Amino acid sequence: MSTISNEKYEAVIGLEVHAQLLTNSKAFAAVSPQYGSAPNTNVTPLCLGHPGTLPVLNENLVRFTIKMGLATNCKVAEKSIFARKNYFYPDLPKGYQISQYETPICYDGHIDIELEEYNKTIGITRIHMEEDAGKSIHDQDPYHTLVDLNRAGTPLIEIVSEPDLRTPQEAYEYLKKIRQIVQYLEICDGNMEEGSLRCDANVSIRLRGQKELGTRTELKNMNSFRNVERAITFEIERQIELVEAGGEVVQKTLLWDPNKLETREMRSKEEAHDYRYFPEPDLPPIIIKKETLEDIQAELPELPSVRLERFIKELGLSEDDAFILTETRPLADYFEKCISILDEPKAVSNVILTEVLRILNEKSIDIDEFSITPERLTALISLKQDDKISSSAMQTIFNEMIESSESPLELAEKLNLIQVSDSGFLEEIVDQVIQDNPDEVTRYKEGKKALMGFFIGQVMKESKGKANPKLAKDIVTKKLDDN
Ligand code: ADP
Ligand code: MG
Repeated sequence: MSTISNEKYEAVIGLEVHAQLLTNSKAFAAVSPQYGSAPNTNVTPLCLGHPGTLPVLNENLVRFTIKMGLATNCKVAEKSIFARKNYFYPDLPKGYQISQYETPICYDGHIDIELEEYNKTIGITRIHMEEDAGKSIHDQDPYHTLVDLNRAGTPLIEIVSEPDLRTPQEAYEYLKKIRQIVQYLEICDGNMEEGSLRCDANVSIRLRGQKELGTRTELKNMNSFRNVERAITFEIERQIELVEAGGEVVQKTLLWDPNKLETREMRSKEEAHDYRYFPEPDLPPIIIKKETLEDIQAELPELPSVRLERFIKELGLSEDDAFILTETRPLADYFEKCISILDEPKAVSNVILTEVLRILNEKSIDIDEFSITPERLTALISLKQDDKISSSAMQTIFNEMIESSESPLELAEKLNLIQVSDSGFLEEIVDQVIQDNPDEVTRYKEGKKALMGFFIGQVMKESKGKANPKLAKDIVTKKLDDN
C-alpha cells in the first residue's frame, strides 16, 4: 500500500534541520571547529566546561544565521537572546547547551519547492543559533565510552519548518532546497553523510479533511536524503496500519535503522523533555541594527531561484537545463565562467550537461575537482562552433583532454580530427562519389531527395570522417542539382 495515494489519511510532516556553520572558530570560543583533528585537540577550557570560563559570541555565527534568514524570507528580530538548554550527558561538560528558545533570531519565513506535478510554498517557523555538543564514542574501547570534545561548541543553526509538508517527496525536495541554499550562501557544506547537515522529521497522520493535527512521532538518525524519504514513508505506513488496527499513535522519538530500513524506539530515558530553559546570563542580548541588516543583505549572492530564472530568461536555456546547471553554485559558476569566455550559452550548456556531468558521475567528483578548466573547455567548443571539428571529434578530444594538458587544437591535429573545409579537396571526393553511385544519382534526380544523407555518408567515409558535413552537403547539392 502506498501512503502517497492513501485516500483516507493524509500525512503531516515538519522538519527540523541542523546545519553546521563554516565559521573559522567555534560559536563562543576562539578555536577551530574543524573535523578530523586528533580527539580533544580543538578545545579550550570553555569547551571543557571549566568553571570561570565565559563565552564570547562569534560575530559570524550571527551573520551566517541572518544570511540564511534573509535567503528564506524570514523576519530578523531586532533583539533576541540566548538561552540555556539544560540536560545531563557525558559529552556535554557544561551541563547545558547554549541555544535560543523563546526569541529566535529569524522567524516567519518560507521557501518554494518544486515537485514534478506542482510547486508549493513551505513555511519556515524559525531559525535559531546554537552550539553543538561533543561526541561519545562507543565502539573503540570494549569497556569504556570515550568522549571527544572537538565538536563541543561548533556553531549550528536549526531551521524549523511549519507542518506544511504532506508527502515524503515534499520533505525530500524541501531538504534539498535547504541544502542548495546553505551551499549557495557558503555557510554550510551541506554534507548529510558527514553530519554537517542533519534532519529530524516530525510525522503524524490525520483523516483527510480533518483540521487538527494528529499526534506526532519524531524520527532521527537519517544520514542521507534517501533515508529521510524512506524513514518518513515507513513511519507514515506504520501509523496508518496502527490506527487502522484500532491503535493510537504515541508521541515518541524513533531512530531510523539504515540497514534494516525500519525505525526503532529510542531508549526512553530522554523522554521527559524538561530542559529547564532559561536566559543565558553570560551573553548579552543580540541587537541587530538596520545597517547591519542592510550590510548582510548586500553580501548575499544571487540565490538559486533567481539564477534559474536568469538562465532561462536571459540566456535562453530550457527550464530543465537551467535547473540542472543551477543545482549547485560551483557548477553554475563554472558554466558562467565558460560563457564569459565564449558567449554561446546553448552550446556550452550542452557540453556541460552531457560530457562534463558524465565524467563527474563516473569519477564521483565535484566540479571543483574536474580537470578541464573553463578556458580549455571553451577552446574545444570553439573548434566545433567554427566547424573545425565534428561533433563526434569533439567528444573524442574531450575524452583525451581529461588526462592530457595539450590544447584541444593540438589534440585535434595529433588525432587527425581537423575537418577538411578545403572545397577543392572535397569537390574531388564528391565527384568520385557521384561517379561511383550512378543509380543513386538517378534516383536522387527523379526526386528521392532523402538520398542526400547517403551521399554525405559516402563523402564522410571517403574523407575518413574529416569532411565538414555542411560544406559536403553544399557541394553535393550544387553538383547534383546543377546537372
Ligand atoms: P519540539 O520543541 O518538540 O521540537 P516544535 O513545536 O518545535 O516541537 O515542532 C517541531 C517540528 O514538528 C516543527 O517542524 C513542526 O512543524 C513539527 N510538528 C509539530 N506538530 C506536528 C504534528 N502534529 N505533525 C507533524 N509535524 C508536527
Ligand atoms: Mg523537536
